[in-house]
Amino acid sequence: MVFITKKKFIVTVAIIAVIAVAVSVCGVCIFAHKSQTVAKFYEHTVVIDAGHGGIDGGVVGSQGVKESDINLKMAEILKNILESNGIGVVMTRTTKDALNNIKRLDMQARKEIIVKTAPSAVISLHVNRFSDSSRRGAQVFYDDTGIGKDFAESMQRGINENINAKYSGRDDYEAIGGDLFITKCVKVPSIIIECGFISNAEDEKLLLSQEYCRELCGVIAGVLTDALIV
Ligand SMILES: [Zn+2]
Repeated sequence: MVFITKKKFIVTVAIIAVIAVAVSVCGVCIFAHKSQTVAKFYEHTVVIDAGHGGIDGGVVGSQGVKESDINLKMAEILKNILESNGIGVVMTRTTKDALNNIKRLDMQARKEIIVKTAPSAVISLHVNRFSDSSRRGAQVFYDDTGIGKDFAESMQRGINENINAKYSGRDDYEAIGGDLFITKCVKVPSIIIECGFISNAEDEKLLLSQEYCRELCGVIAGVLTDALIV
């Protein structure tokens, strides 16, 4: 038996009340994580799509590194930076696997995640390859029938000034419009960023370095955060 004086009783009731509030708050958090309602806790949520995955490795580097793995590494770094900037993130994939082994169904599954999330923006991360191995740098693509052009141009400018000028010696890349499935899923600014050319030995080295990935993702997150949070 516990003997409680009147004063102690009031203190005890107060403590129980505080604990009850804390438990209920934690309960909400746990529930939220389970139900993936990221958007409720952030003013803005962005979908990050790490391109390819599973049997579809995308382009392959000289040492056998797959684009799909570089894309996932980039996506994880970008996610961390955006979340620390107060922006919610939903990833289309978080493992090396694709969402489906059939490409069409894999892309459809990505679209379903994007539609369900109803994000403020979509960023799909890829790595490029070109027959001319001197081609270098990161490039931005958007749907030329959609609303992503301004965002794509801002992103390309930020990447040109802070990444391409520094690493590939050119800052004149323009964002390119096209008919691109992943940028047409929802009516919000949606872009593809080709993070560099794996067909160029210097770019390949950069894409495999943590430093370049962090720097590029820092620029991407900066432009995105400026666009979303005025
Ligand atoms: Zn790709």
